[in-house]
Amino acid sequence: MKFYSTNHNSPDVTLRDAVVKGLAPDRGLYMPETIKYLPDSFFAGIDGMSFQEMSFEVAKAFFGEDIPEQDLKQIVFDTLSFDTPAVRVEDNIHSLELFHGPTLAFKDVGARFMARLLGYFNRNERQLVNVLVATSGDTGSAVANGFLGVPGVHVYVLYPKGKVSPIQECQFTTLGQNITAIEVDGVFDDCQALVKNAFMDAQLNAAMKLTSANSINVARFLPQAFYYFNAYAQMKRIGKADNLVICVPSGNFGNITAGLFGWEMGLPVRHFIAANNANDIFYKYLQTGTYSPRPSVQTLANAMDVGDPSNFARVLDLYGGSHHDIAAHISGATYTDEQIAQTMKQCLEETGYQLDPHGACGYRALKEQLELGQTGVFLETAHPAKFKEKVDAITGADVEIPARLAAFMKGTKQSVPMSRDFVDFKQYLLSEAGK
Ligand SMILES: *Cc1c(COP(=O)(O)O)cnc(C)c1O
Repeated sequence: MKFYSTNHNSPDVTLRDAVVKGLAPDRGLYMPETIKYLPDSFFAGIDGMSFQEMSFEVAKAFFGEDIPEQDLKQIVFDTLSFDTPAVRVEDNIHSLELFHGPTLAFKDVGARFMARLLGYFNRNERQLVNVLVATSGDTGSAVANGFLGVPGVHVYVLYPKGKVSPIQECQFTTLGQNITAIEVDGVFDDCQALVKNAFMDAQLNAAMKLTSANSINVARFLPQAFYYFNAYAQMKRIGKADNLVICVPSGNFGNITAGLFGWEMGLPVRHFIAANNANDIFYKYLQTGTYSPRPSVQTLANAMDVGDPSNFARVLDLYGGSHHDIAAHISGATYTDEQIAQTMKQCLEETGYQLDPHGACGYRALKEQLELGQTGVFLETAHPAKFKEKVDAITGADVEIPARLAAFMKGTKQSVPMSRDFVDFKQYLLSEAGK
């Protein structure tokens, strides 16, 4: 299958090139040229399939022309070594728990898939592939852990100094091996700008093979469609799939875009809700039709602190740039830190369910927007223990830290300090390339 750039100003590429390049030369994001409609029989039988089985069918639609069936199956089955259960919070609201992977956030799915796909494509190459990834918290840990020990690949994780939680920081600064953490004196958008500039820099690209593992990479964002199908299958099993509304706590918009792809493949979803924190650029776009990026502000739901969501370009492209169509399929919501905190507290008191700050935005948007006869599923994008200090302080609970999370906190932090000037970062990478 060919992949085109959302800017329509660079040549179409193969899956392999789209994965290795990450971003198109014209700075656009790659899109698959067709989105296959899955047959009715698939949806009719989906409730009898395992998560891996249904995901393999979805994966074949995007990657099946480029990867032999057995290899693709292996990649999908290895990626999904954990489930994404839809847990009942109240009668018509379920939490799709995406935090049962190794780093306890939904990004494990895309990161594990991409690591395996890149490993597959690079299996006969001699030159090292360098993955650059900017993180506002959870991407870094998911990507670092997804790629840890993968031969022929080195990962550089760029994160904003002092702006990720201590537990998040441990998850990518203590690994060693082929993982290097870079602590940038700036905000997430500075990290993202450094990464984007590196991909555009001719001298750097001549010196080393660079690729991105941010959600701009098709190998990371497309596999996120898998669990939307799993949500549907689970709702179907309990007879609640007819009027499904899916709500996605959104930052860079990779997650919800994958859901929209699922919908284009025929997934029966009534509509989507994109829940924002105070970084409500998309919410404002829905209201006004004007997209006005602005610097991100720090919030309780810090993995959603994005001021210029990269995947907005994909949403626009998917709907031919039509604000009307976008607003018809996706509604918005935006919550202050006070509202997020109040929602976490109230949900725990009323239902016994412990939300994390990101999931809280999703839950609240469903509470406010769900209509009679609809069933809502919100994506619980991270385990509350990843934000334990804040969650405990707000809800008065003592969130238990799962063993696999506690293990990260025993390591020693190692990171490279970096300014937000591209010249410094470039110098550093060139010295790394020379090693
Ligand atoms: C990354 C992240 C988000 C935002 O997802 P996008 O794909 O960037 O919209 C939401 N919640 C958590 C916990 C995250 O790590």
